[in-house]
Amino acid sequence: MPEHFTYKNGQLYCESVPVKALADKLGTPLYVYSQSHFTGQVEAIKQAFAEVDPLICYSVKANACLGLLRAMARVGCGFDAVSKGEIYRALRAGADSRMIVFAGVGKRDDEIDYALEKGILMFNVESESELTAISRVAARRGVEAGIALRLNPDVDPKTHKHISTGKRESKFGIDIERAKASLKRIRELKNLRLKGVHLHIGSQITENDRHAEAIAKVVPFIKEVKAADFPLEYINVGGGYGISYRGNEGLNITEFAAKMLPHIRETGLKMACEPGRYVSGNGGILLTRVIFDKPSGDKNFLIVDAAMNDLIRPAIYDAYHRIWPVQSEFAPDAEIAGDAGRVYDVVGPVCESTDVFAKARRLPATAEGELLAIFSAGAYGMAMSSTYNQRPRAAEVIVQGDKFWVARERESIEDLIRGERLTPREVFSAADL
Ligand SMILES: *Cc1c(COP(=O)(O)O)cnc(C)c1O
Repeated sequence: MPEHFTYKNGQLYCESVPVKALADKLGTPLYVYSQSHFTGQVEAIKQAFAEVDPLICYSVKANACLGLLRAMARVGCGFDAVSKGEIYRALRAGADSRMIVFAGVGKRDDEIDYALEKGILMFNVESESELTAISRVAARRGVEAGIALRLNPDVDPKTHKHISTGKRESKFGIDIERAKASLKRIRELKNLRLKGVHLHIGSQITENDRHAEAIAKVVPFIKEVKAADFPLEYINVGGGYGISYRGNEGLNITEFAAKMLPHIRETGLKMACEPGRYVSGNGGILLTRVIFDKPSGDKNFLIVDAAMNDLIRPAIYDAYHRIWPVQSEFAPDAEIAGDAGRVYDVVGPVCESTDVFAKARRLPATAEGELLAIFSAGAYGMAMSSTYNQRPRAAEVIVQGDKFWVARERESIEDLIRGERLTPREVFSAADL
């Protein structure tokens, strides 16, 4: 079980707040976050890599809740953004722009220009075309753009294929041979400063030597770049640190760091990193209420009021999330004998057969109206939510100790039609083009 979510006397707490009270007060579906988890994970990374004093750029895309971004900025985090919108969000949360890195395979000119205007630390450059684009936009603005080459080290992160990014056939990064050729291009182009080398080989990586292998593979390249007198400052090792969804499958951060540190030291560069899920994943739960208990054929369906629009990971990655009643005499994952337990499919109300949170899961017998917690929902949960089926997005609550506050209001059905018109305000004709 995640550290800040615990059962006391058969009641689930987030830190010191009973989550049933949150659901009763604020409704469901509801995302509940433990702020201490987020800041604690940042602290754990800081400690594991203390000897190289890492620049931790929290990956905004994993969980972009403003209140949490603010908490992270306050403990000294920088941010990893993949769009103009994420840079804007990070800045609104109080980020120091000089601690923002900007990744992504398809940056538009307006996004590059915005990042330059705000004075970010560096762009993670993913192609030669992007070098040209950044140089052009920086020249127009009359500034120098800090860049890092995102290398594709061709290592197998041994994770789900949809979240693997560091193999040769992936769309991400530049292979090392091509990167060598692009050094010449960087010299020719104006307004670029090659500050770093960047890697990000995938997500939810649970083997502790994958990153070390990737870094080891790019050390010779780094030496070449330094020998060629480029002003390299950073090795950015990316994110992807795997967490526990089921039991103890997550990375041990100390052992993970121990594998990487010798290689980082060898580069002589400052370390930057971009953890997303590691910081946020086990810091959140999704609370949902059972609408109906529906026996059908040989199955028992628990139909809940959260759906794939709220949390899409099970539908698109076949992801496992622990689910347990918020009030239960049984400890989470306990074996439940006899009639006290039943095998359920936990599903949402959306009209898609992939709208399933759990299949054939043995849980304590659960009645209509009871609350369930879906665990490990702090990463790629709300951040990937949509309004599919015209379902307003859930509210988000941040808990700290025995205090809580609503960090994002529940959307209303009126919010869902904002910006739309029933009839034209102005009609254009093709003939006038
Ligand atoms: C998504 C992403 C991350 C964060 O990945 P996690 O698996 O959540 O740690 C870091 N860096 C880049 C470039 C990314 O695209």
